[in-house]
Amino acid sequence: MGGVTRIAVLSDIHSNLEALEAVAAALGDAGTDGAYVCGDLVGYGADPEAVVARLQDLPLLSVVAGNHDLAVVGRFPVGWFNAAAAAAVRWTAERLPTEGREYLLGLEPLERARDGLLVHGSVVAPAEEYLPPGHDAAAARSFDRRGFERCFFGHTHVPTVFERTPEGVVRSRLVVGDERVELDSGRRYMLNAGSVGQPRDGDPRAAFLVYDTEERVAEWHRVAYAVEVAQERIRAAGLPAILADRLALGY
Ligand code: ZN
Repeated sequence: MGGVTRIAVLSDIHSNLEALEAVAAALGDAGTDGAYVCGDLVGYGADPEAVVARLQDLPLLSVVAGNHDLAVVGRFPVGWFNAAAAAAVRWTAERLPTEGREYLLGLEPLERARDGLLVHGSVVAPAEEYLPPGHDAAAARSFDRRGFERCFFGHTHVPTVFERTPEGVVRSRLVVGDERVELDSGRRYMLNAGSVGQPRDGDPRAAFLVYDTEERVAEWHRVAYAVEVAQERIRAAGLPAILADRLALGY
């Protein structure tokens, strides 16, 4: 594990097995040798059990829980969610067998990993707060909260870079498509990997991030997957139709 230099960062898989399989296949080409997961393994999609099991095949280094993962095991209020998301939480809770449930119960929404801080939403409110591009004042409060150089997060399903200069200025931007960002050693970063299983930036392809610890580079990747198969699985499961429809739109 000490030799790990290219870390895949996956977030918001949301029980989408087709998307996870496509990303897992792409990790080989991307040359990754470790993986972080920023939460929301389950919720929305039709394959919670298979997704939790498939993740265990990856060289996992650190995994945090998202609000959906916590809600499924009774550690986050279902009333927080909109109707479709709440329906998916209840559906998932009924279908996750003992092993998957036990695994999710062991996860927290914030963890200090070897190469950065992992949270689901933000450092201030790891399970709840959304930090979309442009929310620089809110991100500044996360940068203020703990001593970290790099933080990897998810929750918005939008690939994003927040950076804080040595003078304390926080800036952000949306990451579009496959982008490579060289990290400045004098700056601190919060990096959103985007979503594997339910992208919300208008690009329906699965997103993931690779952090190269030697080059100090963050690379975003997008990979096409069988969206229509994931949609059919959701419809056949009797989950709300919107959860299938939105996958084709990337929103
Ligand atoms: Zn999510």
